[in-house]
Amino acid sequence: HEREIRTGYYVKRRKIQRKLRSGKRRKELLEKYGQRERNRLNDLYHKLANKIVELAEKYGGIALEDLTEIRDSIRYSAEMNGRLHRWSFRKLQSIIEYKAKLKGVRVVFVNPAYTSSLCPVCGGKLSPNGHRVLKCSKCGFEADRDVVGSWNIRLKALKMWGVSVPPESQPMKKGGWKVSRNEAYKLYASYD
Ligand SMILES: [Zn+2]
Repeated sequence: HEREIRTGYYVKRRKIQRKLRSGKRRKELLEKYGQRERNRLNDLYHKLANKIVELAEKYGGIALEDLTEIRDSIRYSAEMNGRLHRWSFRKLQSIIEYKAKLKGVRVVFVNPAYTSSLCPVCGGKLSPNGHRVLKCSKCGFEADRDVVGSWNIRLKALKMWGVSVPPESQPMKKGGWKVSRNEAYKLYASYD
């Protein structure tokens, strides 16, 4: 709902700016709605973080992307634009980290390099295959790019924690296999 909230307040601000060209009232209204927007976003992040930490208590830990070194990454300039602002993302991460620590859930930050370009199943190179979908040229694995990204982040975290990850078992299907968002969650949850 992040984008809905942001768009809604953006439209509201534009209206105020058009109606009131200057003055104290204009400033007050803009501040009021700015504050309201921040509160709603904050509330959203807390709810999301609670849900994530709750799941992590069951499954073992949380892996997050280390965003400090990705300033120039194409992935983030292109992909994060219009989805989540970098600021929002960091903010959400810090709330997750804080809540996780309170519950004793471990959090690891991983370098996001190649998490959207290499196949999480075989390590092959991924290429775009339609809107938001990536496909491996080697094994035919195909998934939404967010699924690919989170899968690779998870693998990196497991490696950092010293957990050996068995190769994913592939259903013997001609022309590769496709993993949807929901299937990915189920798959994640099936490992102990
Ligand atoms: Zn592959």
